[in-house]
Amino acid sequence: MEAWRRALDGQVSAFPIERAGPAHVATLKTFDPPLAALEGRRLAGAERRGKRLLFPTVDGELVLLVHLMSAGRLRFLGAGEKGPKQPAFRLAFQGGAQLVLTEGGPKKRAGVWLLTPEAAEAELAHLGPEALGLDAERLAALLRDESRRLHPLLRDQRFVAGIGRAWANEILHAARLSPFALASQLSEEEVERLAAAIDTELSRGLELRERGLKDAKVYRVHDRLGEPCHVCETPIARVDYEEHTIYYCPRCQTGGRVLKDRRLSRLLR
Ligand SMILES: [Zn+2]
Repeated sequence: MEAWRRALDGQVSAFPIERAGPAHVATLKTFDPPLAALEGRRLAGAERRGKRLLFPTVDGELVLLVHLMSAGRLRFLGAGEKGPKQPAFRLAFQGGAQLVLTEGGPKKRAGVWLLTPEAAEAELAHLGPEALGLDAERLAALLRDESRRLHPLLRDQRFVAGIGRAWANEILHAARLSPFALASQLSEEEVERLAAAIDTELSRGLELRERGLKDAKVYRVHDRLGEPCHVCETPIARVDYEEHTIYYCPRCQTGGRVLKDRRLSRLLR
């Protein structure tokens, strides 16, 4: 997300908006103020809060908020560049450039909100501190009162903002911690390893994304079932926890133990 934000920052602020929309009915989450309120205004740039991108207007009156979820993609097309026929959302700028949101698959989960700055503030108030740049001391304080397991906890945007399920896999592997470890039971040294891993892994991801690399080159653990661990060559294993699939190395992370599935359906039984 941070790589996207950096790329978009200068592009979206170069020209005023000529036309806002169309937007897919499932993608646009707000109707007041109407999208047309953006027309004629200029965006100040792109900001990020966790996994959300924010585009405030120069006059400070409106904020366009975009959440891509897992399948949404945001592209900036220069004047004359061909775009998709039916984008989930589009902003056309004076001079001919466009910002388009597309989403693969039939499910529309990505969202676009047009908000006043006050409403945007309220929308973001439940987010935890930014994961990138979080130091060990701050992380230790956050973990102390948590009874949850590390993988679901890291993914929870109210705990820390900016880590998705794939990066939770990468981070826990780098920290040599079990995805099922209980947050409050980490030693001081383990918390330090986790804080360092959050920083190095998110920075690594940011750098690779900026170089334009795709998922298969960026992830070393996520979605690599059966492939050799890049540290110890043990095949990467997979476990289901609630509604998520977690990838881990049984040698590096769980002392050789194979984790058992804990699906939500079974927990509810
Ligand atoms: Zn390993």
